[in-house]
Amino acid sequence: MKQKKYILQDSELPRQWYNIQADMPNKPMPILDPKTKKELTKEDLYPLFAKECANQEFDREHAWIDIPEEVMEQYAVYRSTPLVRAYGLEKALDTPAHIYFKNESVSPLGSHKLNSALAQAFYCKKEGVTNVTTETGAGQWGCALSYAANVFGLDAAVYMVKVSYAQKPYRKSIMNVFDGTVTPSPSMSTRAGKNILTVNPNYSGTLGTAISEAIELAMTTPNCKYALGSVMNHVCMHQTIIGLEAEKQLEMAGEYPDIVVACFGGGSNFAGLSFPFIRHKILGKKDTRIIAAEPFACPKLTSGTFEYDFADEAGYTPLLPMYTLGHDFQPQNIHAGGLRYHGAGVIVSQLLKDSYIEATDIKQLDAFKAGVLFARSEGFIPAPESCHAIAATIDEALKCKEAGESKTILFNLSGHGLVDMAAYESYFSGDMVNVQ
Ligand SMILES: *Cc1c(COP(=O)(O)O)cnc(C)c1O
Repeated sequence: MKQKKYILQDSELPRQWYNIQADMPNKPMPILDPKTKKELTKEDLYPLFAKECANQEFDREHAWIDIPEEVMEQYAVYRSTPLVRAYGLEKALDTPAHIYFKNESVSPLGSHKLNSALAQAFYCKKEGVTNVTTETGAGQWGCALSYAANVFGLDAAVYMVKVSYAQKPYRKSIMNVFDGTVTPSPSMSTRAGKNILTVNPNYSGTLGTAISEAIELAMTTPNCKYALGSVMNHVCMHQTIIGLEAEKQLEMAGEYPDIVVACFGGGSNFAGLSFPFIRHKILGKKDTRIIAAEPFACPKLTSGTFEYDFADEAGYTPLLPMYTLGHDFQPQNIHAGGLRYHGAGVIVSQLLKDSYIEATDIKQLDAFKAGVLFARSEGFIPAPESCHAIAATIDEALKCKEAGESKTILFNLSGHGLVDMAAYESYFSGDMVNVQ
C-alpha cells in the first residue's frame, strides 16, 4: 500500500481559527426569536452558551480569532492530523485524479468533533461554569464533549438519540470512560421527552429531540451550559483548524485542490475543511468546487427549502435561516446517525444560496460500498458518515477518468468506523437497504 503523509511540526500549526463571516459578501440573515420575530443578539445567548462562544457566534468583524493557549495544548495531543495522498484509492479507481484525505479519525475519540469540544469546554471553565450538557446522534459528539469536560474538570450530561444508543452501545461506554452521564433520548427526564413519548412511546429519537432535552436541562440547572456539536457558527469556526492545516499540508505537496468534499450532517466538518478554501474563492483568487455530501435519506441541501425554521424538533431554539426539511421531518434510521439532521448551519446555507458551494446526495448502499473500497485500498475503516464523502469523491474521480483530466481532490475523513461495525455487519449480511 503506497501512501504519502504530510504532517506539520508543532511550530507550523495554525494558531488562529478562520471566521468566514467577516469575509462573506452576503452575511447570513439574522436569527430570530420565535415569539417576537425580533433579531437575536449575543446577549440573548448568554444564558445558554459560554459567553465567548456566543460572542464568536455573532462576530462579523474579525476574520482571525486566536486559539487559546490551553486549547492549543490539548490540540497538540493529536494535531496536526495527517494529510494523506491516497495512491491506493487512485489505483483502485484507475483515475488520473490526485486524491488527498485529511485524516481527522486519528483524534483520541476518532472524529473531528474534539476540535470544537475542547474549545467550548475551555470557555465554559474560564467563566466558572461547572456543568455542560448536550445531545449526541451517533455518539461522537457526546464522546468528544465528555472527553473535553473531563480535561477541563466539568461534569457532562449527554442525551443520546435512542436508535443510536441501541445501535452503538460502545459509544456510551466511551462516554462513561471519560465520566460522562448518558441518557437515551427521548427520555422521561424532561418535559420535551415526556411530550413526545406520550404521543409515540416507541419513538426512536432524532437529534432534534435530543437537542430539546439538553436545552431544557441547561435552562433548569444552575451553572450549567449547553454545548452544540455542529450547526452553530462558532462550532464551524473551531473546525477550521482542519482546513487551515490542510492548506499548509497541500502546499508542502505542491498542490491546490480543484475539488473539496466533506460529508454533511449539520455542517461542521464540511465547514472546517472547506471555509479556508472558500476564503480564496471569496477573495477572487481560486475557483475550487466545494461539495457537501449528504445522505439520500435526509437531503436538506439538495431537496430542502431555504426558510426560517427551528434547530430542534420541539421548537425551543431560535429560528434559523437555513436549508431545512422541516423541524418535524423524521429521517429513516440510516446508519450514519451523525447525518440524520433536518437542517443546516446558517453560514453554509447562505453560501449554498450564493452558489459558493454545491451539494450531492448519496444512497446508503453506495456510501458503504465506497467505504469498503477505501478501507481495502487505504487501510482505514471510515465512519458511516465519512463514507458519504468518499462516495462523492469517487464519483468525481471517475468523472476525471472519463474526461481524461487530472484534478486534485481533497476530502475529509471525518472519523473512523471502528465503533460502527454493526453497520458494516448489516452491509455485508445483505440486510442494508437504500432507505428513502
Ligand atoms: C458528527 C459527525 C459528522 C456530521 O456532523 P457535521 O457537523 O456535519 O460534521 C460527520 N462525520 C463524523 C465522523 C461525525 O462524528
